Amino acid sequence: MKIFKLNAYKEYSIFIWLILITLAGVFISTIYSSNKEKEYEKIKSTLDNIYLKKTLKEISQNLDPRYETVYYISKSGDTIQSIIDNLKINNQEKKLLIKTIKKVDSFRILKINQKFKFKFDNISDQKVVEFTIETDKKNEIQFSKNLNKNRFDTKKIKKNFKKNLVYKETIITNSLYNSAIDLGIKPNVIIEFARLYGFQVDFQRDVWKDDSFQIIYEEFVNKDGLVVDTGEIIFTNLSLQNTDFQLYKYEFENNKTDYFDENGKSVKKTLMKTPINGARLSSSFGNRKHPILGYTKMHTGTDFAAPTGTPIMASGDGKVTKAGWCGGGGNCVKIKHNNTYQTVYAHMSKFGRGIKKGSRVKQGQIIGYVGSTGLSTGPHLHYEVIENGRKINSQKLKLPSGKILKGKERKKFEVEKIKIDVLKSNLITKLN
Ligand SMILES: [Zn+2]
Repeated sequence: MKIFKLNAYKEYSIFIWLILITLAGVFISTIYSSNKEKEYEKIKSTLDNIYLKKTLKEISQNLDPRYETVYYISKSGDTIQSIIDNLKINNQEKKLLIKTIKKVDSFRILKINQKFKFKFDNISDQKVVEFTIETDKKNEIQFSKNLNKNRFDTKKIKKNFKKNLVYKETIITNSLYNSAIDLGIKPNVIIEFARLYGFQVDFQRDVWKDDSFQIIYEEFVNKDGLVVDTGEIIFTNLSLQNTDFQLYKYEFENNKTDYFDENGKSVKKTLMKTPINGARLSSSFGNRKHPILGYTKMHTGTDFAAPTGTPIMASGDGKVTKAGWCGGGGNCVKIKHNNTYQTVYAHMSKFGRGIKKGSRVKQGQIIGYVGSTGLSTGPHLHYEVIENGRKINSQKLKLPSGKILKGKERKKFEVEKIKIDVLKSNLITKLN
Protein backbone atom coordinates (compact mmCIF):
# COMPACT_ATOMS: atom_id res chain seq x y z
CA MET A 1 0.00 0.00 0.00
CA LYS A 2 2.67 2.39 1.03
CA ILE A 3 4.60 1.75 -2.11
CA PHE A 4 1.58 2.50 -4.27
CA LYS A 5 1.04 5.86 -2.60
CA LEU A 6 4.64 6.85 -3.11
CA ASN A 7 4.45 6.06 -6.82
CA ALA A 8 1.25 8.02 -7.24
CA TYR A 9 2.88 11.03 -5.66
CA LYS A 10 5.87 10.70 -7.95
CA GLU A 11 3.71 10.63 -11.05
CA TYR A 12 1.82 13.66 -9.80
CA SER A 13 5.01 15.62 -9.19
CA ILE A 14 6.32 14.90 -12.67
CA PHE A 15 3.09 16.32 -14.07
CA ILE A 16 3.51 19.57 -12.08
CA TRP A 17 7.08 19.91 -13.25
CA LEU A 18 6.07 19.48 -16.86
CA ILE A 19 3.54 22.33 -16.59
CA LEU A 20 6.09 24.56 -14.92
CA ILE A 21 8.74 23.88 -17.53
CA THR A 22 6.31 24.55 -20.37
CA LEU A 23 5.22 27.85 -18.85
CA ALA A 24 8.81 28.91 -18.31
CA GLY A 25 9.60 28.03 -21.90
CA VAL A 26 6.78 30.15 -23.29
CA PHE A 27 7.80 33.05 -21.08
CA ILE A 28 11.46 32.92 -22.07
CA SER A 29 10.83 32.61 -25.78
CA THR A 30 8.49 35.62 -25.74
CA ILE A 31 11.16 37.78 -24.18
CA TYR A 32 13.73 36.37 -26.56
CA SER A 33 11.74 37.05 -29.73
CA SER A 34 10.92 40.61 -28.75
CA ASN A 35 14.60 41.17 -28.05
CA LYS A 36 15.53 39.52 -31.29
CA GLU A 37 13.32 41.87 -33.24
CA LYS A 38 15.01 44.85 -31.61
CA GLU A 39 18.40 43.32 -32.28
CA TYR A 40 17.52 42.73 -35.93
CA GLU A 41 16.45 46.35 -36.43
CA LYS A 42 19.70 47.47 -34.92
CA ILE A 43 21.80 45.24 -37.19
CA LYS A 44 19.77 46.30 -40.23
CA SER A 45 20.31 49.99 -39.61
CA THR A 46 24.00 49.42 -39.03
CA LEU A 47 24.31 47.47 -42.27
CA ASP A 48 22.56 50.23 -44.18
CA ASN A 49 25.14 52.67 -42.95
CA ILE A 50 27.21 53.76 -45.95
CA TYR A 51 30.32 54.17 -43.89
CA LEU A 52 30.21 50.56 -42.72
CA LYS A 53 29.59 49.37 -46.26
CA LYS A 54 32.80 51.08 -47.33
CA THR A 55 34.69 49.64 -44.42
CA LEU A 56 33.50 46.12 -45.22
CA LYS A 57 34.64 46.51 -48.79
CA GLU A 58 38.04 47.58 -47.64
CA ILE A 59 38.27 44.70 -45.20
CA SER A 60 37.30 42.13 -47.83
CA GLN A 61 39.83 43.58 -50.27
CA ASN A 62 42.51 43.27 -47.71
CA LEU A 63 41.44 39.69 -47.16
CA ASP A 64 42.84 38.78 -50.58
CA PRO A 65 46.24 37.60 -49.47
CA ARG A 66 49.20 39.56 -50.63
CA TYR A 67 51.30 36.43 -51.08
CA GLU A 68 50.07 33.42 -52.94
CA THR A 69 51.75 30.09 -53.59
CA VAL A 70 51.16 28.05 -56.72
CA TYR A 71 52.24 24.43 -57.04
CA TYR A 72 52.78 22.48 -60.23
CA ILE A 73 53.94 18.96 -61.05
CA SER A 74 55.34 18.48 -64.54
CA LYS A 75 53.56 16.09 -66.87
CA SER A 76 54.73 14.42 -70.04
CA GLY A 77 54.83 16.93 -72.86
CA ASP A 78 55.57 19.87 -70.57
CA THR A 79 58.54 22.15 -71.13
CA ILE A 80 59.98 24.85 -68.87
CA GLN A 81 58.60 27.29 -71.44
CA SER A 82 55.06 25.88 -71.33
CA ILE A 83 54.98 25.81 -67.53
CA ILE A 84 56.13 29.41 -67.21
CA ASP A 85 53.78 30.50 -70.00
CA ASN A 86 50.84 29.28 -67.95
CA LEU A 87 51.68 31.53 -65.01
CA LYS A 88 49.63 34.71 -64.68
CA ILE A 89 52.55 37.10 -65.03
CA ASN A 90 53.63 39.53 -67.73
CA ASN A 91 55.82 38.51 -70.67
CA GLN A 92 58.87 40.36 -69.43
CA GLU A 93 58.77 38.44 -66.18
CA LYS A 94 58.20 35.16 -68.01
CA LYS A 95 61.34 35.77 -70.05
CA LEU A 96 63.38 36.45 -66.93
CA LEU A 97 62.15 33.25 -65.27
CA ILE A 98 62.89 31.06 -68.28
CA LYS A 99 66.38 32.60 -68.65
CA THR A 100 67.04 32.01 -64.95
CA ILE A 101 65.91 28.39 -64.97
CA LYS A 102 67.77 27.48 -68.16
CA LYS A 103 71.04 28.59 -66.57
CA VAL A 104 70.79 25.63 -64.20
CA ASP A 105 72.21 22.51 -65.86
CA SER A 106 69.88 20.03 -64.19
CA PHE A 107 66.86 21.76 -65.68
CA ARG A 108 68.00 21.60 -69.30
CA ILE A 109 65.88 18.47 -69.68
CA LEU A 110 62.60 18.54 -67.84
CA LYS A 111 61.60 15.29 -66.19
CA ILE A 112 58.03 14.29 -65.48
CA ASN A 113 56.71 14.53 -61.91
CA GLN A 114 59.13 17.35 -61.15
CA LYS A 115 57.69 19.67 -58.51
CA PHE A 116 57.45 23.43 -58.93
CA LYS A 117 56.46 25.96 -56.31
CA PHE A 118 55.99 29.64 -57.10
CA LYS A 119 55.44 32.36 -54.54
CA PHE A 120 53.66 35.45 -55.86
CA ASP A 121 53.44 38.94 -54.44
CA ASN A 122 50.07 40.12 -55.72
CA ILE A 123 50.79 43.78 -55.04
CA SER A 124 54.08 44.01 -56.87
CA ASP A 125 54.40 44.40 -60.65
CA GLN A 126 57.01 41.70 -60.88
CA LYS A 127 54.99 39.08 -59.11
CA VAL A 128 57.28 36.10 -58.53
CA VAL A 129 59.35 36.70 -55.41
CA GLU A 130 60.56 33.17 -54.94
CA PHE A 131 60.27 29.78 -56.57
CA THR A 132 61.67 26.32 -56.09
CA ILE A 133 62.12 23.41 -58.49
CA GLU A 134 62.85 19.90 -57.35
CA THR A 135 65.94 18.35 -58.92
CA ASP A 136 65.06 14.98 -57.44
CA LYS A 137 63.01 13.80 -54.50
CA LYS A 138 65.69 14.83 -52.00
CA ASN A 139 67.02 18.06 -53.51
CA GLU A 140 65.58 21.27 -54.80
CA ILE A 141 66.83 24.58 -56.05
CA GLN A 142 65.45 27.75 -54.59
CA PHE A 143 65.39 30.94 -56.64
CA SER A 144 64.85 34.13 -54.64
CA LYS A 145 64.35 37.53 -56.18
CA ASN A 146 67.22 39.83 -55.59
CA LEU A 147 65.25 43.01 -55.00
CA ASN A 148 68.06 45.40 -55.88
CA LYS A 149 68.84 43.76 -59.17
CA ASN A 150 66.44 42.31 -61.63
CA ARG A 151 67.56 38.74 -61.13
CA PHE A 152 67.15 35.69 -58.94
CA ASP A 153 69.70 34.25 -56.55
CA THR A 154 69.87 30.47 -56.58
CA LYS A 155 70.46 28.17 -53.66
CA LYS A 156 70.63 24.39 -53.51
CA ILE A 157 68.47 22.97 -50.75
CA LYS A 158 68.73 19.46 -49.45
CA LYS A 159 65.43 18.21 -48.22
CA ASN A 160 65.88 16.31 -45.04
CA PHE A 161 63.94 13.28 -46.23
CA LYS A 162 64.79 9.68 -45.77
CA LYS A 163 63.92 7.32 -48.60
CA ASN A 164 62.25 4.09 -47.56
CA LEU A 165 61.34 1.18 -49.76
CA VAL A 166 57.92 -0.09 -48.87
CA TYR A 167 56.51 -3.50 -49.64
CA LYS A 168 52.77 -4.10 -49.60
CA GLU A 169 50.71 -7.08 -50.64
CA THR A 170 47.09 -8.03 -50.39
CA ILE A 171 44.31 -10.18 -51.70
CA ILE A 172 41.67 -8.10 -53.43
CA THR A 173 38.41 -8.49 -51.57
CA ASN A 174 36.44 -5.48 -52.67
CA SER A 175 37.96 -3.35 -55.42
CA LEU A 176 41.63 -3.04 -56.21
CA TYR A 177 41.51 0.64 -55.29
CA ASN A 178 39.86 0.04 -51.91
CA SER A 179 42.19 -2.83 -51.10
CA ALA A 180 45.16 -0.60 -51.85
CA ILE A 181 43.80 2.31 -49.79
CA ASP A 182 43.16 -0.09 -46.89
CA LEU A 183 46.85 -0.99 -47.02
CA GLY A 184 47.76 2.67 -46.68
CA ILE A 185 49.00 3.05 -50.24
CA LYS A 186 48.73 6.66 -51.35
CA PRO A 187 46.32 7.40 -54.24
CA ASN A 188 49.05 8.67 -56.58
CA VAL A 189 50.86 5.33 -56.26
CA ILE A 190 47.62 3.50 -57.11
CA ILE A 191 47.07 5.72 -60.13
CA GLU A 192 50.60 5.00 -61.35
CA PHE A 193 50.03 1.27 -60.76
CA ALA A 194 46.85 1.37 -62.86
CA ARG A 195 48.67 3.30 -65.59
CA LEU A 196 51.42 0.67 -65.75
CA TYR A 197 48.89 -2.10 -66.29
CA GLY A 198 46.63 -0.03 -68.51
CA PHE A 199 47.59 -1.77 -71.70
CA GLN A 200 47.07 -5.32 -70.53
CA VAL A 201 44.40 -5.15 -67.87
CA ASP A 202 40.81 -3.98 -68.00
CA PHE A 203 40.41 -3.05 -64.33
CA GLN A 204 36.61 -3.13 -64.58
CA ARG A 205 36.33 -6.69 -65.81
CA ASP A 206 39.64 -8.51 -65.39
CA VAL A 207 40.20 -8.01 -61.68
CA TRP A 208 38.22 -10.55 -59.67
CA LYS A 209 37.68 -11.14 -55.99
CA ASP A 210 40.60 -13.10 -54.51
CA ASP A 211 43.05 -11.85 -57.14
CA SER A 212 46.10 -10.31 -55.50
CA PHE A 213 48.91 -7.85 -55.94
CA GLN A 214 52.34 -7.08 -54.55
CA ILE A 215 54.08 -3.74 -54.81
CA ILE A 216 57.39 -2.13 -53.84
CA TYR A 217 57.60 1.64 -54.00
CA GLU A 218 59.61 4.54 -52.57
CA GLU A 219 58.35 6.59 -49.69
CA PHE A 220 59.94 9.78 -48.34
CA VAL A 221 59.84 10.35 -44.61
CA ASN A 222 60.71 13.60 -42.80
CA LYS A 223 62.68 13.83 -39.56
CA ASP A 224 59.48 13.36 -37.53
CA GLY A 225 58.83 10.08 -39.27
CA LEU A 226 55.92 11.37 -41.31
CA VAL A 227 55.50 10.27 -44.90
CA VAL A 228 55.79 13.48 -46.91
CA ASP A 229 55.93 12.10 -50.41
CA THR A 230 55.98 8.96 -52.48
CA GLY A 231 58.43 8.17 -55.20
CA GLU A 232 58.57 5.59 -57.93
CA ILE A 233 57.23 2.08 -58.13
CA ILE A 234 60.13 -0.39 -58.18
CA PHE A 235 58.24 -3.62 -58.67
CA THR A 236 54.68 -4.83 -58.97
CA ASN A 237 52.96 -8.09 -59.51
CA LEU A 238 49.30 -8.32 -60.32
CA SER A 239 48.03 -11.86 -60.04
CA LEU A 240 44.81 -12.32 -62.00
CA GLN A 241 43.12 -15.71 -61.84
CA ASN A 242 46.48 -17.25 -60.99
CA THR A 243 48.38 -15.62 -63.85
CA ASP A 244 51.19 -13.34 -62.70
CA PHE A 245 51.86 -10.02 -64.38
CA GLN A 246 55.19 -8.87 -63.00
CA LEU A 247 56.76 -5.53 -63.78
CA TYR A 248 60.29 -4.41 -62.93
CA LYS A 249 61.46 -0.82 -63.08
CA TYR A 250 64.58 -0.64 -65.19
CA GLU A 251 66.76 2.27 -66.24
CA PHE A 252 68.25 1.88 -69.69
CA GLU A 253 70.34 4.04 -71.99
CA ASN A 254 70.70 7.50 -70.45
CA ASN A 255 68.19 8.09 -67.71
CA LYS A 256 65.39 6.39 -69.62
CA THR A 257 63.20 4.45 -67.24
CA ASP A 258 60.55 1.97 -68.18
CA TYR A 259 58.84 -1.08 -66.76
CA PHE A 260 59.56 -4.53 -68.15
CA ASP A 261 58.08 -7.95 -67.53
CA GLU A 262 60.24 -10.87 -66.39
CA ASN A 263 61.20 -11.56 -70.03
CA GLY A 264 62.51 -8.05 -70.61
CA LYS A 265 59.50 -6.90 -72.60
CA SER A 266 58.35 -3.33 -72.09
CA VAL A 267 55.00 -2.72 -70.47
CA LYS A 268 54.22 -0.46 -73.40
CA LYS A 269 52.82 -3.31 -75.43
CA THR A 270 52.17 -3.01 -79.06
CA LEU A 271 50.03 -5.11 -81.37
CA MET A 272 51.88 -7.05 -84.04
CA LYS A 273 51.25 -5.84 -87.55
CA THR A 274 51.85 -9.32 -88.90
CA PRO A 275 50.87 -12.03 -86.41
CA ILE A 276 52.26 -14.77 -88.63
CA ASN A 277 55.71 -15.71 -89.84
CA GLY A 278 56.62 -16.44 -93.44
CA ALA A 279 53.39 -15.12 -94.92
CA ARG A 280 52.74 -12.86 -97.87
CA LEU A 281 50.34 -9.93 -97.63
CA SER A 282 47.75 -10.95 -100.22
CA SER A 283 44.97 -8.42 -99.74
CA SER A 284 45.08 -5.18 -97.85
CA PHE A 285 42.49 -3.16 -95.96
CA GLY A 286 40.04 -1.17 -98.08
CA ASN A 287 37.55 -1.57 -100.94
CA ARG A 288 38.01 -4.60 -103.17
CA LYS A 289 36.06 -6.99 -105.32
CA HIS A 290 35.25 -9.93 -103.06
CA PRO A 291 36.85 -13.10 -104.50
CA ILE A 292 33.81 -15.28 -103.74
CA LEU A 293 30.84 -12.93 -103.49
CA GLY A 294 31.97 -11.18 -106.70
CA TYR A 295 30.93 -7.65 -105.82
CA THR A 296 32.95 -4.75 -104.43
CA LYS A 297 32.91 -4.74 -100.68
CA MET A 298 34.92 -3.10 -97.96
CA HIS A 299 37.68 -5.45 -96.88
CA THR A 300 37.82 -4.81 -93.15
CA GLY A 301 41.03 -6.70 -92.50
CA THR A 302 44.36 -7.69 -93.97
CA ASP A 303 44.93 -11.07 -95.64
CA PHE A 304 48.17 -13.00 -95.36
CA ALA A 305 48.56 -15.97 -97.70
CA ALA A 306 50.40 -18.89 -96.09
CA PRO A 307 50.35 -22.68 -96.30
CA THR A 308 47.70 -24.54 -94.30
CA GLY A 309 48.98 -25.31 -90.81
CA THR A 310 51.23 -22.21 -90.49
CA PRO A 311 51.01 -21.07 -86.84
CA ILE A 312 49.13 -17.84 -86.09
CA MET A 313 50.21 -15.79 -83.08
CA ALA A 314 48.26 -13.58 -80.66
CA SER A 315 49.29 -10.09 -81.76
CA GLY A 316 49.24 -8.85 -78.18
CA ASP A 317 48.51 -9.94 -74.62
CA GLY A 318 44.82 -10.33 -73.96
CA LYS A 319 41.84 -12.49 -73.30
CA VAL A 320 40.15 -14.76 -75.84
CA THR A 321 36.54 -13.65 -76.25
CA LYS A 322 35.71 -16.11 -79.03
CA ALA A 323 37.26 -19.33 -80.36
CA GLY A 324 34.72 -20.98 -82.64
CA TRP A 325 32.80 -20.79 -85.89
CA CYS A 326 32.23 -17.29 -87.28
CA GLY A 327 30.21 -18.10 -90.44
CA GLY A 328 32.05 -16.52 -93.41
CA GLY A 329 35.16 -16.21 -91.26
CA GLY A 330 35.21 -19.97 -90.65
CA ASN A 331 37.09 -20.98 -87.52
CA CYS A 332 38.03 -17.73 -85.86
CA VAL A 333 39.59 -16.36 -82.70
CA LYS A 334 38.80 -12.98 -81.21
CA ILE A 335 41.08 -11.42 -78.56
CA LYS A 336 40.36 -8.45 -76.33
CA HIS A 337 43.65 -6.71 -75.48
CA ASN A 338 42.40 -3.80 -73.42
CA ASN A 339 39.59 -1.28 -73.36
CA THR A 340 40.60 0.02 -76.76
CA TYR A 341 41.86 -2.85 -78.90
CA GLN A 342 40.53 -6.20 -80.08
CA THR A 343 41.90 -8.44 -82.83
CA VAL A 344 40.25 -11.11 -84.99
CA TYR A 345 41.93 -14.04 -86.80
CA ALA A 346 39.79 -15.89 -89.36
CA HIS A 347 39.69 -18.96 -91.70
CA MET A 348 41.79 -21.12 -89.31
CA SER A 349 42.19 -24.85 -89.93
CA LYS A 350 42.38 -25.49 -86.21
CA PHE A 351 42.79 -23.70 -82.88
CA GLY A 352 45.93 -23.53 -80.76
CA ARG A 353 46.26 -25.70 -77.70
CA GLY A 354 44.13 -24.45 -74.80
CA ILE A 355 42.63 -21.63 -76.84
CA LYS A 356 39.02 -21.21 -75.81
CA LYS A 357 36.72 -18.44 -74.74
CA GLY A 358 38.04 -16.87 -71.53
CA SER A 359 41.65 -18.06 -71.81
CA ARG A 360 44.46 -15.54 -71.45
CA VAL A 361 47.09 -15.24 -74.11
CA LYS A 362 50.49 -13.60 -74.27
CA GLN A 363 51.83 -11.77 -77.28
CA GLY A 364 53.35 -14.28 -79.71
CA GLN A 365 51.51 -17.29 -78.27
CA ILE A 366 50.13 -19.67 -80.94
CA ILE A 367 46.36 -19.34 -81.04
CA GLY A 368 45.62 -21.30 -84.21
CA TYR A 369 46.79 -22.49 -87.63
CA VAL A 370 46.20 -21.18 -91.14
CA GLY A 371 43.35 -22.79 -93.05
CA SER A 372 40.67 -22.00 -95.58
CA THR A 373 37.49 -22.46 -93.55
CA GLY A 374 34.41 -20.29 -94.19
CA LEU A 375 34.21 -18.02 -97.25
CA SER A 376 37.75 -18.44 -98.52
CA THR A 377 39.39 -19.27 -101.85
CA GLY A 378 42.64 -20.62 -100.44
CA PRO A 379 44.64 -20.93 -97.24
CA HIS A 380 45.22 -17.51 -95.68
CA LEU A 381 44.88 -15.58 -92.45
CA HIS A 382 42.34 -12.78 -92.37
CA TYR A 383 43.49 -10.43 -89.60
CA GLU A 384 41.42 -7.58 -88.18
CA VAL A 385 42.22 -4.89 -85.65
CA ILE A 386 39.27 -3.24 -83.90
CA GLU A 387 39.91 0.10 -82.21
CA ASN A 388 37.09 1.35 -79.97
CA GLY A 389 34.64 -0.90 -81.79
CA ARG A 390 35.73 0.24 -85.27
CA LYS A 391 37.69 -1.91 -87.69
CA ILE A 392 40.93 -0.19 -88.66
CA ASN A 393 43.85 -0.85 -90.97
CA SER A 394 46.29 -2.96 -88.94
CA GLN A 395 49.17 -2.00 -91.22
CA LYS A 396 48.76 1.67 -90.35
CA LEU A 397 48.41 1.07 -86.62
CA LYS A 398 50.43 3.54 -84.58
CA LEU A 399 51.13 2.27 -81.09
CA PRO A 400 54.07 2.90 -78.79
CA SER A 401 56.79 0.50 -79.80
CA GLY A 402 57.07 -2.21 -77.20
CA LYS A 403 60.77 -2.31 -76.43
CA ILE A 404 62.29 -5.73 -75.90
CA LEU A 405 65.62 -5.78 -74.06
CA LYS A 406 68.24 -7.74 -75.99
CA GLY A 407 71.93 -8.61 -75.76
CA LYS A 408 73.97 -6.58 -73.26
CA GLU A 409 70.92 -4.62 -72.19
CA ARG A 410 69.08 -7.86 -71.42
CA LYS A 411 72.01 -9.09 -69.29
CA LYS A 412 72.01 -5.84 -67.31
CA PHE A 413 68.27 -6.16 -66.86
CA GLU A 414 68.61 -9.74 -65.55
CA VAL A 415 71.05 -8.49 -62.89
CA GLU A 416 68.69 -5.69 -61.92
CA LYS A 417 65.80 -8.16 -61.80
CA ILE A 418 67.70 -10.42 -59.38
CA LYS A 419 68.52 -7.41 -57.19
CA ILE A 420 64.84 -6.48 -57.05
CA ASP A 421 63.82 -10.08 -56.30
CA VAL A 422 66.33 -10.17 -53.41
CA LEU A 423 65.06 -6.82 -52.16
CA LYS A 424 61.52 -8.17 -52.33
CA SER A 425 62.31 -11.26 -50.24
CA ASN A 426 64.15 -9.09 -47.69
CA LEU A 427 61.17 -6.77 -47.38
CA ILE A 428 58.80 -9.73 -47.06
CA THR A 429 60.97 -11.18 -44.28
CA LYS A 430 60.78 -7.87 -42.41
CA LEU A 431 57.01 -7.94 -42.78
CA ASN A 432 56.66 -11.18 -40.83
ZN1 LIG B 1 40.26 -11.03 -95.49
